[in-house]
Amino acid sequence: MTDNASAQSSATASERSVPVGVDPTRASIARVYDAFLNGKDNYEVDRDVLRGVQKAAPEAVDLAFENRGFLIRVCRFLATQTGIDQFLDCGSGLPTAENVHQVVQRTNPDASVVYIDNDPVVLAHGRALLEENERTHLVSADIFNPAEVLGNEEIRARIDFSSPLVFLQMGTLHHYNGPRERPAQIMREYIDALPSGSYVAISHFFDPENEYSAVARKMEEMFLHSMMGSGTFRTRAELLELFDGLELVEPGLTLCADWWPDGPRLKPLNQVQNCIAGAVGRKP
Ligand code: SAM
Repeated sequence: MTDNASAQSSATASERSVPVGVDPTRASIARVYDAFLNGKDNYEVDRDVLRGVQKAAPEAVDLAFENRGFLIRVCRFLATQTGIDQFLDCGSGLPTAENVHQVVQRTNPDASVVYIDNDPVVLAHGRALLEENERTHLVSADIFNPAEVLGNEEIRARIDFSSPLVFLQMGTLHHYNGPRERPAQIMREYIDALPSGSYVAISHFFDPENEYSAVARKMEEMFLHSMMGSGTFRTRAELLELFDGLELVEPGLTLCADWWPDGPRLKPLNQVQNCIAGAVGRKP
C-alpha cells in the first residue's frame, strides 16, 4: 500500500473527499450502521446518531453486531444445507467483514448474489468492493417497493424466479417509516412472488415485552428523533406477521443471539442483545 493509500484507509469518511450525491450533513442508514460496526465510512452526523442511542443503552452497538452475526450464520446455513445457489439481499449495507457473497461463495463458488441498496455511498463503494466476481452484483432499487424490485430487469436477468432462491431482509424493515402495518404487506408481496422451496430470512429491532421493553422503546425514541429518523421496534406478534405463509426453520423466531449460536454461552445476554430478533422461513 502506498503512503497515500494507507493514509486514505485510516481516514474516516469525513476526512476524505465527499462523493457526488452524498450529503454529509444528513445521517444515512448505511453510514450509521457502519458507525455502529466501528467502520470508517461514516460522518460526524452518523456518529451523533450512535452517541444518541448509546445514551439510551451504552451497549447499543450490539444491535449491529448481533444482526451481523445472525446474517453470517444464516447465510452459512442456507448455503451449506439448502442447495440453493441464488441469493437476493435487500439492503446490502456498506461492504464490511464477511459480506454475504463471501460467506455463501466460500461454500458454493457458483452461487449468485444480487445485492440491492439505494444509498449513494453503498452504490459507489459497493460497485468497487462487492462486485468482486461475475456472480455478484449490486443493483440500485427501493426495497420497500416490491413491484419495483420484482420488475427490475437487472435483477430478473440474474435471479431466476422460477427456481428456489434465498431472500434476505436483514436489518432493513425497521427502517420503513410509513404505516406500521405496511412491512407485513411488503413481505407478503415478496413471498407471493417466490417459488416454493425458497427461503426468507429477516432480522429486526425487537420489543421483547419483558423487563427489556423499556430500553427497546428508549432506543426507538432516540432513533426516530435522530438525524437518521428511523428504527421501529416490533413485538413478537408483529414480527411473526412478516413471515406469513412460511414455515419457520427451527428454532423459529428468536433473539438473533439465540439463533444457532456458534458455541456455548459463557455470560448472560445484555439488555441490547435482548432487543434484536430474527428467523428463517421456508416457502412450502
Ligand atoms: N443487510 C445488512 C446487514 O444486515 O448487515 C445491512 C443493514 S443496514 C442497517 C440497512 C441497509 O438498507 C442500508 O445499507 C440502507 O442503505 C438500505 N436501505 C434502507 N432503505 C432502503 C430502501 N428503501 N431501498 C434500498 N435500500 C435501503
